[in-house]
Amino acid sequence: MKYISTRGTAPELSFEEAMLTGLARDGGLYVPAEVPRMTAAEIAALAGLSYEETAFRVMRPFVGDTFNDEDFRAIIARAYDGFGHAARAPLVQLAPNHFLLELFHGPTLAFKDFAMQLIGQLFQAALERSGDRVTIVGATSGDTGSAAIEAFKGLSNVDVFILFPHGRVSEVQRRQMTTPTESNVHALAVDGDFDDCQAALKDMFNDFQFRDGVRLAGVNSINWARVLAQVVYYFSAAVSLGAPDRKVSFTVPTGNFGDIFAGYIAKGMGLPIDRLVVATNQNDILHRCLSGQGYHKGPTHPSISPSMDIQISSNFERVLFDAYGRDGAAVAQLMAELNAGGFDVSQGAMEFLQEQFDSGRASEAETLAAISETLRDSTELLCPHSAVGVKVARELRNPEVPMITLATAHPAKFPAAVQKASGIHPPLPPRMSDLYERPERVHRIANDLDAMKDYIRGHIAK
Ligand SMILES: *Cc1c(COP(=O)(O)O)cnc(C)c1O
Repeated sequence: MKYISTRGTAPELSFEEAMLTGLARDGGLYVPAEVPRMTAAEIAALAGLSYEETAFRVMRPFVGDTFNDEDFRAIIARAYDGFGHAARAPLVQLAPNHFLLELFHGPTLAFKDFAMQLIGQLFQAALERSGDRVTIVGATSGDTGSAAIEAFKGLSNVDVFILFPHGRVSEVQRRQMTTPTESNVHALAVDGDFDDCQAALKDMFNDFQFRDGVRLAGVNSINWARVLAQVVYYFSAAVSLGAPDRKVSFTVPTGNFGDIFAGYIAKGMGLPIDRLVVATNQNDILHRCLSGQGYHKGPTHPSISPSMDIQISSNFERVLFDAYGRDGAAVAQLMAELNAGGFDVSQGAMEFLQEQFDSGRASEAETLAAISETLRDSTELLCPHSAVGVKVARELRNPEVPMITLATAHPAKFPAAVQKASGIHPPLPPRMSDLYERPERVHRIANDLDAMKDYIRGHIAK
């Protein structure tokens, strides 16, 4: 299995190389040269299997000879061992033919744990074998950073630095990043917004001297291994509702387009998905783009679903690559236009995108209403991101096709908004109930690339 860059000029890589590299050297993102297909019989055979065995069978063809079967099974087992639910990704029913896929039973209470716990174990296994050491730098709007720190803390061959926008993450998110005591963990509070953090990270990757000097590795949602880990729960959920004999649809609360892109890959592998619905909050650049208005950046408006407060949706590049017939030069051109403010999508590419995706948005008031109405109708307490999904799913779903909305975080991760909507203060699960008492450790830093690079160079273990 080979991986190619969406901008067409970086070298082809193996799974291991693509995973350790993150961003391609031509600025693009790695995608499989060809998406492997599963037959209907292979999909049907997933029924009743554990999450871990499903994960093994779905991901195996993408991994090539990076790991043998036994090692890959052991990696998967370690990755999901710390989850607080035996099903890992349980499906609950909200209404007739509308289901919620609970992806918040991992150690930091958001779906990011599915990918990050796996990638932590994949990195550890690969680096132990090679004896190499890497520096992981991540940018986060909250959940990626906490999940990365939880997955990499204390690992012997890794230093991890997380850039988060100062004052723009929830208290639980911040504490999950600032309270781990392991010395290889560094939380950096940047005076800027999430797009500033993500831009700084991209600049570090494009500075080859810095990149090679610190052996920079990326675990943001652009890392192919993260997308791959997320493909699994589309299979487990669809199969438990009757796939491959029955089609299902998914609605996905979307920011960086990583989670929904995993659904697109699942569909490409042969999983019978009817519709894939992109749900955005008031930062609705993707919804506007998919409605035919081009992709044009505006200001980010902080919302009660902060993990989706995004203008530059980095994984969108992967689907644009397919929409433009896998023409890397065309994608590079669009991304150059995006740097200058935005781009319009060609008619052919737009037809492709609208064939693959539906989209909708939820305002702040609609998000709050979805939390209170869902509690009233089903007893399920939603986090604000999941509520955006439920609102859009109710609006766009075909009642005859089962709709699965992804619940991307636990309500206790965003207690202020949940309390405002429902009057209930959602408690943290007992295994982390002392989070508010643990001491914090954080370094505040200017939105200045050189300052960040200096800090990182000065704090990696020698
Ligand atoms: C990251 C995140 C999202 C958005 O996922 P993308 O893969 O970036 O589209 C939605 N909800 C929560 C809670 C998240 O942490």
